[in-house]
Amino acid sequence: MTAAAGSRGARGYAAAGAVAIAAYFAAGGHAGLQAAIYQAVDVGAVVAVLAGVRRNRPRDPRPWLLFAGALALWTAGDTYWNVYVWFLGSTAPFPSPADIAYLAGYPLLALGVLALMRGWGRPRLRDLLDGAVISVAAAIVIWVALVGPLARGTLSSYATTVSVAEPVADVALLLAFTQLVLRGRAASVALRLVTASVAFQLVADFVYGYLNFRGAYANGMPLDAGWLAAYVLWGVAALHPSMGRIQTLPARVDELSRRRIAVLALSLGAPPAVLVVQATLSTPTDALEIAVATLAELALVGARVLLVVRERERIRVSLADSERRFREQLEIAKHAQLELGEQNEQLHEVDRMKDDLIALVSHELRTPLTSIIGYLELITTGEAGELTESQRSMLGIVERNARRLIRVVSDLLLVAQAQSGHLTLVEEELELGDLVEECVAGVRPAATARDIELGLVTTGVTSIVGDRQRLAQVVDNLLSNAVKFTPERGSVSVSVSDSGGRVVLEVADTGIGIPPSEQKQLFTRFFRTAAATAGAVQGTGLGLSIVKAIVDAHGGEISVASRVSRGSTFRVALPAAANVAGRELVSAA
Ligand code: ADP
Repeated sequence: MTAAAGSRGARGYAAAGAVAIAAYFAAGGHAGLQAAIYQAVDVGAVVAVLAGVRRNRPRDPRPWLLFAGALALWTAGDTYWNVYVWFLGSTAPFPSPADIAYLAGYPLLALGVLALMRGWGRPRLRDLLDGAVISVAAAIVIWVALVGPLARGTLSSYATTVSVAEPVADVALLLAFTQLVLRGRAASVALRLVTASVAFQLVADFVYGYLNFRGAYANGMPLDAGWLAAYVLWGVAALHPSMGRIQTLPARVDELSRRRIAVLALSLGAPPAVLVVQATLSTPTDALEIAVATLAELALVGARVLLVVRERERIRVSLADSERRFREQLEIAKHAQLELGEQNEQLHEVDRMKDDLIALVSHELRTPLTSIIGYLELITTGEAGELTESQRSMLGIVERNARRLIRVVSDLLLVAQAQSGHLTLVEEELELGDLVEECVAGVRPAATARDIELGLVTTGVTSIVGDRQRLAQVVDNLLSNAVKFTPERGSVSVSVSDSGGRVVLEVADTGIGIPPSEQKQLFTRFFRTAAATAGAVQGTGLGLSIVKAIVDAHGGEISVASRVSRGSTFRVALPAAANVAGRELVSAA
């Protein structure tokens, strides 16, 4: 059966119950008919609860069987009462076996409510205390309104016992009820219906007790609606599909809600309020009972306050603990940060030492290399005697390699200088266009040898302030790379122009290009693209890092745009001479 069909059943039963209650009051004056309707609602409730257990199969059916038992006992009591109405034309005497049946129902109901809550874990002390505060308030009111007068009255001791037992049973049920309300912040419809049903029962019982004590109760009073509603609601609760999986919401940490405080305050006010009412009505005051109740309330509230203080202390301790742990973690983090800083410093130191070493080695290599080249020149020019053709050719190879070596050594030295911030420039005002033209002329033989078209376009004024030799190095590097990485019959286009206070040099080729992932690293030392390494293209990977260092030292910028297999364009922008007027020229010592 689907949940929808199940809830339809519960709704149908609720509607039938409402009709029955309406019919009960419509039949006012026909005692027999009223008794019959009452009887039908009674029996209907027992049957509905049992049917609900069969249909919804709760994991633990025992609470519901206890409810059915209580309802059956009350039905028995009502039947006894109805028999008098139907067959003897009067109401049953008081007390009668019906009252015993009624009384026997209460423990079953209270037990059922408690059993329903068993699955929710141990009852919490704060709920028990709050329940007790409310119950003591109810007890003092009941005592003063019902039990006290009865005890002092003229009833037989049997009648007195029964009359006293009923309110006492109600107080027991109230205790169970408060636990239900305080703990079961009901998440399911069935649980809310159970709660409502017990509430109807309790209110009707209290009112009945009061009226009965004054001899003012008669069949068919509006009060009966309370009991009838309670019966119907038991049936609806049992038939509702949510009955099979009654749940409660997890309790919030702060259980002392405003509503709870209000109910507790009201309960605390009950004993003095009773005293005030008695004094106003000039009836004898139950000073002793009220004082005892007040003391009981005080003790309970004291215990409750103690509980709150303990809870607060627990929270404070756990808060302090969290704070301590947080501080510890913070200390560890600070320590780690410090260590990291130190390691960083050490790494920098190592880096500096490496640069120093490179500078030292390069410097030491350059001097003997210069001397080697000098002597080679002397030998090849015949200063040391005539050379055979084969000797001359071999010495040519030696000289070319020595020159390559000295270039690498110079590059290394320059990189080390730039890295340590010791790159010095010998600045002068110069025409970048002219400089580039000379460089293009220098690289032309290599381009022609590989059938590469080489073009230069210069536009506008291109004067800048800079180090001629270093800038020539920049242009040479870019040009030789462009030629080196462009296949035969490609082209290299060079342009120099002025653009918004800057002089811009662009070297564009139709070469192999550089993938985007490698473009960011181009200007780092010793970096070479995978294509350059794989193609065994000669080079050290120092050129572009030197280019960047020199451009930076001139206050310029370098960038690259490239597409694989389509070509690359390197763009260098330097401040125009007009913009450098105030700059201090650094001269090499
Ligand atoms: P080297 O040319 O000595 O290898 P560079 O620093 O001048 O060192 O260049 C670094 C790398 O950048 C080169 O190895 C090459 O992979 C890549 N590269 C530079 N210029 C170009 C270019 N015009 N086309 C394609 N790749 C280039």
